[in-house]
Amino acid sequence: MYTQEEILGYKIYLEIIEKRMLNKYFENQKPYLCCKKGCSYCCEKGEFPTTEIEMQYLYYGFMFLSDDVKKNIHEKITKLKELKKQHSVEKELLYECPFLINNACCLYEYRPIICRTHGLMFFLTDKNGNLHKKIPYCVNLGLNYANVYDTEQKIITTEKWQQSGIKVEPNAFNISRKILKSKDLTEPLGFIFGEDKRMIDWL
Ligand code: SF4
Ligand code: SF4
Repeated sequence: MYTQEEILGYKIYLEIIEKRMLNKYFENQKPYLCCKKGCSYCCEKGEFPTTEIEMQYLYYGFMFLSDDVKKNIHEKITKLKELKKQHSVEKELLYECPFLINNACCLYEYRPIICRTHGLMFFLTDKNGNLHKKIPYCVNLGLNYANVYDTEQKIITTEKWQQSGIKVEPNAFNISRKILKSKDLTEPLGFIFGEDKRMIDWL
């Protein structure tokens, strides 16, 4: 369990990454983004990696929900636990987030960092330290970055970008969870992220 001071440090951290990084990046990439209220594909299928402090903060937000919504979430969690029991451990398990209610996040203010970066293109570092651009999955649904995506080569091409007439480049950012969870960002604020696992494993 985290102390109130640690949770406060985490809240300040969220404000910092949103104000100094994420809000600016979303604004910068606006011509490529289709994110809007009611669009929830990114919450409908995933693993939703979540750390201990992020999970505690979600549960903190949960306390303020109406009884009906809480009941709905409990039912979803029961189904997810059943799904997990029946699923082979070796296979990837993709599921709908239990906090998605009527196509919207009922804990939006309390959502984990993975959800705050959803929609942007970002860099992933492989085992050898090489950077790879990761395009949001919903490009395949004709959503984010689809206006500059070459569906045959499965990449964003300069040609497509030039054809689009959009001035700002389709950029990837250093916002992988590994980067955002770095101690350099969290230690000065007096908290650590703690254990990191799939959301379903916390339920
Ligand atoms: S990331 Fe994609 S699926 Fe998620 S809200 Fe944005 S457009 Fe919709
Ligand atoms: S916590 Fe909210 S934003 Fe994140 S996956 Fe669940 S419903 Fe979506």
